[in-house]
Parts: sequence; C-alpha cells; structure tokens
Amino acid sequence: MFTPTGYKLFKRCQLQWYLKNIVADGRVKNDEFRKEITILAKLNTLEAWRGNIVDDVVSRLLINSINKKYPIDRTYLVNEADKMFDSQLEYAAFQKYREPGRKYTKDKDFAALVNYEFGLDYTDEMINTARTDIHAALNNLLDDAEFIKYLQSARFLASQRPLHYTFSGLPVSSKPDLIVFFDDRAPHIIDWKVHTYGLNTYDEQLMFYAVALYKVAMTKPHADFPMNLGSHQIFDYKLTEYQLLHPDRIRRDYEVTKDSLEELNDKMSKGIIEMYMKGCHKKYGEADPENFETTNYIENCNNCQFKTICKTKEYATMSN
Ligand code: SF4
Repeated sequence: MFTPTGYKLFKRCQLQWYLKNIVADGRVKNDEFRKEITILAKLNTLEAWRGNIVDDVVSRLLINSINKKYPIDRTYLVNEADKMFDSQLEYAAFQKYREPGRKYTKDKDFAALVNYEFGLDYTDEMINTARTDIHAALNNLLDDAEFIKYLQSARFLASQRPLHYTFSGLPVSSKPDLIVFFDDRAPHIIDWKVHTYGLNTYDEQLMFYAVALYKVAMTKPHADFPMNLGSHQIFDYKLTEYQLLHPDRIRRDYEVTKDSLEELNDKMSKGIIEMYMKGCHKKYGEADPENFETTNYIENCNNCQFKTICKTKEYATMSN
C-alpha cells in the first residue's frame, strides 16, 4: 500500500520502512524477533506523542461535538487531553507494553516513548513543556472563533477518514486529518500540525489528499459523503495546513493547479515503481530483507526506533 508518509520513510531509510511495514505485525504470536520489532515500531518521540494527543482530542472530541451541534466545552477538551497525557505517560514510563502476556494493542492508554524504552529519562522541564504545548495548541484552535464558526457552518466534518484507491493498478491509501463538506461548495481538506516552529510547508501532502478524495469521489464515494461531491472539480478543492502550536496560528492555504498535479503524478509513479521493484508489496517471508538498503545519512539513525536491533542484527552497514 503506497502512502505519502510511507514513501517519505522509504526515501530516508529503506530498511526502516521494511522493519516497520513488513516485519512489524501486531498479530504475530510465536516469533520473538517480530514481536520485538512490532513494539519498537510503535515508539514515538516526545514531540510526536504530544502531537498525537492534540490530534486525538481535536479529531475525536472537538470534531464530534461540532458534527453533533453540541456547544464546545473548552474545559472538557483540555481536561481530556490532560487525562490522556497522564495515563499514557505513566503507561510509557513503566513500559507496560512489555508486561508478560499483555495484549497491548488493545490498551487504550497505550504509549511507547523512545527515551523510556532506551533507558533514558525526560526532565521535568521536557514533560511540562510537552503538556504546555498541548494546552497551547488546543487553546489556539479554540480561540480561533472565526475558524470554529466556519467549521460549524459545514454540512459535515469527516475526521481521519481513510481514502483508498488504485494508481497504475496498485493500492494507494491516505488519511486526511479533516475534510469539511458543504452543500454548495467544493470540499476543504485540513491538515493539523503541532510543530514548535512550523517552518516546513505541507503543500505536497495536502495535494496527495486532494487527489485521493477526488479519486474516491469519482469512483466509490463513502455513504456519508455529499451526493454532489463528484460534481466538483479538483481545482475547486480548498487545502489548508494549520500550524496549531505557532503563536500566530499559521494557516497556510494551497491551490490545486495543473502543474502541481502533474508534479505529484510523476512523483507517485516514480515512487510506486521504486517501491514495487524492492518488493514493498510482498509479505514477510516473501520480501527479501537484503533488498532494503540502510540510510546513507547516519544522522537519520539517531531518531530511529530500530537503532538497537539494527546494530545487533548487523543490518546497518555504517559504524557507530
Ligand atoms: S538504525 Fe539507521 S540504518 Fe538502521 S533502520 Fe534505523 S535509520 Fe535505518
């Protein structure tokens, strides 16, 4: 399955992609190596975990309230974020996913953090900053009354909706953070970002989502999508990257243009062929691990969740 984030990872380190996407599998029972890889594949940095909590509160609770026309309860949302923060932090700190016999994939408090896993700690300041960042991101969004009103004016909000289609006969998948549907307008796709500086732009990722939504709209629209979705041209779709943590609440809007579509099309064709040639479409046991090269940039290994196992298994070709 081709995904934009998967391809990005594949470009960074093919072996990391292989371990995460072919070796890791939560259903595996009697294979200690694969079970270990599955745990490692779930490790997060503190920054990514903090972003996941914001995503979860926004996608699951805030958007649900708006869809149901409930009043927005800021205290409830921030408290829920705090509860998740506390319970997940405790879970990660005690590495509860490693308790014998534990079926951690079913744990609602599941979290696994890189430092705890590798015997390091987070300072109180790091933990407090993560919590403050979560509050700031949520409050920034809730303070944006104009934007919240805009969301409330929609017919329906689809949060984290998987979109599947085929490209050159191969399966492609994407999951936009939010699709805003209207009765009288083309859809608006929004991507939440919880980055401290918000320097990177995400136009390509949003373009990828637009293509996925358009393909689904034209082939097999979901049952709850508006009936007239297929009547809109992809060029009318609105795309927004919303940097929630930035003090200025940066919202970057992008347009779908003919040139950007051609560029994405070329990139996807190249990426799909590249991954296919390596055997990314194959199952564990069928794909040859030797096909998956290690990164050329050792700095990529610093934040890699497989760095311990990679070295012990002598997968990496570089030295420490
Ligand atoms: S430790 Fe480095 S070489 Fe090994 S999988 Fe991770 S990024 Fe790739």
